[in-house]
Amino acid sequence: MTLLHIGIDDTDSLIGGCTTYIGARLVHRLEKETKAKFIDYPNLIRLNPNIPYKTRGNGAVCLRINIEENMIEDVENIVIEEVEENSDLKCEETHPGIVFFKGNVPPELKKFAKKAVTDVIMLDEALKIVNKTGAKIKTYKKGRGIIGALAAIGNTLEKDHTYELLSYRSPEHWGTPRTIDEDSVYLMDKLTNPETFNNIDKETKRILITPHGPDPVLYGIRGETPEIVKLASKIVVSYEPIERWVIYRTNQGTDEHLTKLRKIKEIKLYQPAKTLVKIIEPPKIIPGGHVIVKAADNTATIDLAAYEPTGNFRKIIQKLIPGDTIIAYGGVKPQENKPLTLNLEKIEILNLAPKIIYKNPKCSKCGKRMKSAGKNQGYRCKKCKTHAKNIEKEKIQIPREIKPGIYLPTPRAHRHLTKPLQRYGREKKNKPKKLIEKWHYP
Ligand code: ATP
Repeated sequence: MTLLHIGIDDTDSLIGGCTTYIGARLVHRLEKETKAKFIDYPNLIRLNPNIPYKTRGNGAVCLRINIEENMIEDVENIVIEEVEENSDLKCEETHPGIVFFKGNVPPELKKFAKKAVTDVIMLDEALKIVNKTGAKIKTYKKGRGIIGALAAIGNTLEKDHTYELLSYRSPEHWGTPRTIDEDSVYLMDKLTNPETFNNIDKETKRILITPHGPDPVLYGIRGETPEIVKLASKIVVSYEPIERWVIYRTNQGTDEHLTKLRKIKEIKLYQPAKTLVKIIEPPKIIPGGHVIVKAADNTATIDLAAYEPTGNFRKIIQKLIPGDTIIAYGGVKPQENKPLTLNLEKIEILNLAPKIIYKNPKCSKCGKRMKSAGKNQGYRCKKCKTHAKNIEKEKIQIPREIKPGIYLPTPRAHRHLTKPLQRYGREKKNKPKKLIEKWHYP
């Protein structure tokens, strides 16, 4: 038996398709037609969410199988056939790439995968890795998909990971509204949360398991174990047929993109950033309901932005004051004629500055708050007419309305990679030892 990894990316467009759907089709066909033995659930690897070329969530897929040497050619042909049939090759922005890699994943591929989550990679660099590792590729058009395909192979999800059960619609329903019983989704959430996550946006009660586009996904249920996502899917009632479903193992919800702390000066465009800063100006609300707050470290200043879709998260940002120390997490995109702006994905408040207000002094005789008697003229009490000259405003420390801790936007604004609050403390340290019995249909 030969260990074979198959990476696929950049097959879909905004008008149709989904690389995970190709993965789901291949699971069935490879098992049935080539007797492939899956050594892992198919992997859904989310890559740098700030990449400009992404269609939606910058996801790539990897299938890892044990296969008889004489079946490898058949496997390759089936993969190529499925990618060709299910890719939107007409779309200008779709550049599919397939990578086949035999044997254990070497360190350089793992390193490449880490970079693909946290940085921008040029196609040349991917081609160098292909040559160095002896991977086999098949590309279409510009073939940019091999970047994601290689990264999906290289990310073996050794440590923290989650699962997503993806179910797919029959082709005759693609492009029509999805018909899922909403109450069944609320029930599923009630019964399985926190073992499942991001099913519902609590702020708006909006259901988050169903996408809204023309892609083949009916719904995706994210969770901590394959068992729980499978159980949860049994609670969800669908009024349209489910053509197939499969459980993916994934880096979603793990914060894998938010790695080391950087100084503001070191933050680069299109990279995820994590930076320790002090707030230097009071937050401002700008047209559109976005909240912007200026922060700094000893290298530079940066604007931190909580955009309108982040919901009540903006209320937290509005409560920050100069002197507060936070770790800001997010991504930086180019914006013409604007200062460097970090699109906030989350903050951790480390230290809150005292909030001080100044009030006119109280009258020493009657206790009523005095009024200014004019510039450098001291204060006068309106009630008992007392005049006090050498007296200062009273300094009052008022309680802060926020506490140190981690704050995230509402789930509807989460990136796929963002670790939801409920996952803190649930991080996994190992890969699963074996797969559950039935992890896909058909
Ligand atoms: P979907 O989520 O629907 O699968 P998508 O958002 O994943 O779509 P793709 O169509 O896969 O978008 O396009 C992303 C493109 O960006 C792919 O060609 C992929 O190889 C490339 N890419 C991914 N990560 C990086 C990276 N870190 N640097 C450079 N290119 C990248």
